[in-house]
Amino acid sequence: MLMSHYDCFGLTSGRLSERRSLGHRRPVTDTLTAFASAKLNELDAKNLRRTLKPTRRIDGVWVERGGRRLISFSCNDYLNLTHHPAVKAAAAAAIETHGAGSGASRLITGENPLFSELEARLARLKGYEAACVFGSGYLANAGIIPTFTGPGDLVLVDELAHACIWAGATLSGAQVAQFRHNDMDDLGQRLIAGRTSARRILVATDGVFSMDGDLAPLGEISRLCRANDAWLLVDDAHGLGVVGGGVGSAKLFPDARVDLAMGTFSKSLGGYGAYVCASGPVIDFIKTRTRTVVYTTGLPPANAAAALAALVVIEAEPDRVARPLRNARRLTDALSLPQAQSAVVPILLGEAQTALAAAQDLEDKGLLAVPIRPPTVPAGTARLRLAFSAGHTDEMIDRLVEAVRPWLRR
Ligand SMILES: *Cc1c(COP(=O)(O)O)cnc(C)c1O
Repeated sequence: MLMSHYDCFGLTSGRLSERRSLGHRRPVTDTLTAFASAKLNELDAKNLRRTLKPTRRIDGVWVERGGRRLISFSCNDYLNLTHHPAVKAAAAAAIETHGAGSGASRLITGENPLFSELEARLARLKGYEAACVFGSGYLANAGIIPTFTGPGDLVLVDELAHACIWAGATLSGAQVAQFRHNDMDDLGQRLIAGRTSARRILVATDGVFSMDGDLAPLGEISRLCRANDAWLLVDDAHGLGVVGGGVGSAKLFPDARVDLAMGTFSKSLGGYGAYVCASGPVIDFIKTRTRTVVYTTGLPPANAAAALAALVVIEAEPDRVARPLRNARRLTDALSLPQAQSAVVPILLGEAQTALAAAQDLEDKGLLAVPIRPPTVPAGTARLRLAFSAGHTDEMIDRLVEAVRPWLRR
């Protein structure tokens, strides 16, 4: 059916070359549309097409979708700070004072005074000399990695690391290689080989893996990096505010030395934007050279103000910070799954079709658990990715437990 659909639009390669040889020209926009349509049909046939579903988030936990109220286990708003009164008030006040946008690149006139306040607070919390804020996590990794590596260098990336680490590594022009997920023997061997073939080596990993919720063994990774003169970048988007007493995953490994400690404001901080902490000279170099700082508009001031207010909450409320992990463990304990290491718990289901069916079943029961499919996760590992927040009650989690139970080990 798929092929015949292609055929009727003349999209098989044979037909295209035939058309070319006959000298027919179709408008470029027309062939682009045909290309997109064919790709969409291909994705449909594999259950891999994604669509945007309007979702009104009512508070940190409840959402409204398709006219129904659902308890969400899919938001990264681990501390429910998207709707926290102090965070919202700070954002609103910053818009009043500074306007809706920053008006230019930070290096021109976009250097809002809130940025340096936020950077100082982040650096203090994470135990670094300095920090730099970015427009988003994706921009941060896409910019930082090419700032420090290029042709002749080697970037070693955990195979399950976030897409924006891969984007940054590819953009750098360095040789890029993956090591097996959390496999220290594999990383060690690749580092030793890299020492003779590459000028410099950067190792990049998530601290908390976004789709699996497990932790990178940062103590061991850091030791291997030091032994092999490699630099280490850790993306702790899902660690900040959740693990290590809210400071992040490196805090759980006291001997870990992370050269570039990156994270975002978009998960537990409930806002938008990102940061990297490092030594003073490293940050100064980023601010003068990183393309996603230099050639992009500064973060809107409201985002910086919201992140500052969120950090105040995180430092003042250790009970709130402890809850997402506690809630995740309530589910893993009840279902005898490996104990949760973060606020993220994957329920592996295999094929995309199964994940879609499980998600629909949960939704029928009033629970939102969005299915995660390739290419976000490797083929054959489609899953429900459950995300727990401070605001989930025991009763909500117990409902989820009973809804998920029939889907385990099918
Ligand atoms: C969400 C995420 C990002 C991207 O951050 P944005 O601010 O949403 O662009 C980067 N890294 C990891 C591990 C993430 O989960």
